[in-house]
Amino acid sequence: MLSIKTQKKYLKYIGLYNGVIDSKKNKEYNEAVLKLQKKYMPKSEQDGIYGNNTEIVLVNAYRVKKYCTHFKLEEFKCKCKGRYCTGYPAKLSIRLLKNLEKSRSHLGVPMTITSGERCPRYNTLCGGASFSKHMSGRAIDFVSSKTQTFEQRKKFINWYIKLVGSTYAYQYKYGRTKTRTFTGTHPSCNYPEMGNAIHIDVV
Ligand SMILES: [Zn+2]
Repeated sequence: MLSIKTQKKYLKYIGLYNGVIDSKKNKEYNEAVLKLQKKYMPKSEQDGIYGNNTEIVLVNAYRVKKYCTHFKLEEFKCKCKGRYCTGYPAKLSIRLLKNLEKSRSHLGVPMTITSGERCPRYNTLCGGASFSKHMSGRAIDFVSSKTQTFEQRKKFINWYIKLVGSTYAYQYKYGRTKTRTFTGTHPSCNYPEMGNAIHIDVV
């Protein structure tokens, strides 16, 4: 768990805390924790108590603000709609956030995240692979106006996989063989449900 001092620092960074940065809990700190929970978490989690789930949300809010200028934490939320998780089952990888922001600058147009975090239960329901990096905050799927055609997606993927820490990117139309050519790692690539979406991830 983060120290109270670091928690305060993060809460301040995301604009929810305005008090002193020290190691003691105070009224403003307690209020900030509740504000954080009310902003991002389901009702059942809004108890003002700082536990593991709250820490994951705080770290995520801090990282998204620090490493992304074009994305908000809500865009990464698990789509189980609070049925099986708090919406944020894992800490988002800093490398993923950096690569996502680089991708946004590279494309120069808004990217819509079609799948961000996934809790294990939702991952199973949506047909995700059992090893899916969506469950550990290391993958997202997106669509954009600049990746509408096969050629555009191919060009983007070939650019993306050269970024530091990127392991692979794929899109179903490449099929198994071509995906292997790009990455050499992904065991299977037949995801017709992805439509025009591209999957990107990091180690
Ligand atoms: Zn979930």
